[in-house]
Amino acid sequence: MGDDAAAMPHAAARPAEARPPAAPRQVCDLCGSASCSVFAQKGRGGSKLTTVICRECGLVYTNPRPSERDNAEFYHKQYWGDYKDQSAPDEKFFKRRLPKIRPMLALLRSHLRPGIKVLEIGCSVGALLWSMKNHVGATGQFIGVEAHEGHAKFAREEKGLDIRCGLLHEVTHKLPAGGFDLVVMNHVLEHTTSPTGVFATIKKLLKPNGLLVVEVPNVEAPGSRLSHFFHVAHHYAFSPRTLQRLAQKTGFKVKRLDALDGDLPGTRLNATFEKPSVAEEPDLPTKFIRDDPAERAKALRRYERWYWLTAASLRKKVTHWQRQRA
Ligand SMILES: [Zn+2]
Repeated sequence: MGDDAAAMPHAAARPAEARPPAAPRQVCDLCGSASCSVFAQKGRGGSKLTTVICRECGLVYTNPRPSERDNAEFYHKQYWGDYKDQSAPDEKFFKRRLPKIRPMLALLRSHLRPGIKVLEIGCSVGALLWSMKNHVGATGQFIGVEAHEGHAKFAREEKGLDIRCGLLHEVTHKLPAGGFDLVVMNHVLEHTTSPTGVFATIKKLLKPNGLLVVEVPNVEAPGSRLSHFFHVAHHYAFSPRTLQRLAQKTGFKVKRLDALDGDLPGTRLNATFEKPSVAEEPDLPTKFIRDDPAERAKALRRYERWYWLTAASLRKKVTHWQRQRA
């Protein structure tokens, strides 16, 4: 999936122009609380999208989310079609993905030893998976999960990659339990309907001491105006604390968690989590780390002001252009 993806998605599927924003109705995936405050009522492209902040743990999320069925349908057929008409990707599109995955590839390199078994969830046309495979050579095993049929087909037929087409929960049974040394999700977790469920599944797929490397947009540094940051395809916006809590809740060890620079400072939240071996499986903590919901709302408003006052939008264009050239 794209870090700067589509502008339309679910809203486009339902053309009810006059429909008011639906009332929040789902509980928080991270802490289970039903108590939340509405932060914003619009998303990218002016779409009707209700973004809330959990009053218990401070998680920022879309509420209501689309149903599982609508979500699956959207990723199978629409997501990449709405995104610059990329239903049938070609080599040109693949080449354009390469600079985008380069920072993540640089972070993964130290883990890529001979014979490694890697799973990438949401691999699109396979630019990152293909690059990892090239780095290791024939001794490794590289499997991708991709929901969009056109992108899965390209990765399989044009790049010779082993792809399971579907959302993670639809293809889990086709993947070996305890079979992977490394699972990668590059700007994909925020698109899932239940990050808790996804982490629990990944834990089953990893070997003991296997690693999960995740990158998501950082809600502490959205890197755009908020009306652009909130996005119908992004159901969650993590901070370092809420991402850490997700790992804590699902029994992963946090090896590292950093806010890295993208087009603007700190926009990429990148973490490495480890599945503990059976002997070191931790008890669930009695007290979880949390974000203060009022502080989170204030910080977001502060960022919005900073973004305008510092001409960040212009700086972003310049660094984006420089990164593309590099
Ligand atoms: Zn919560």
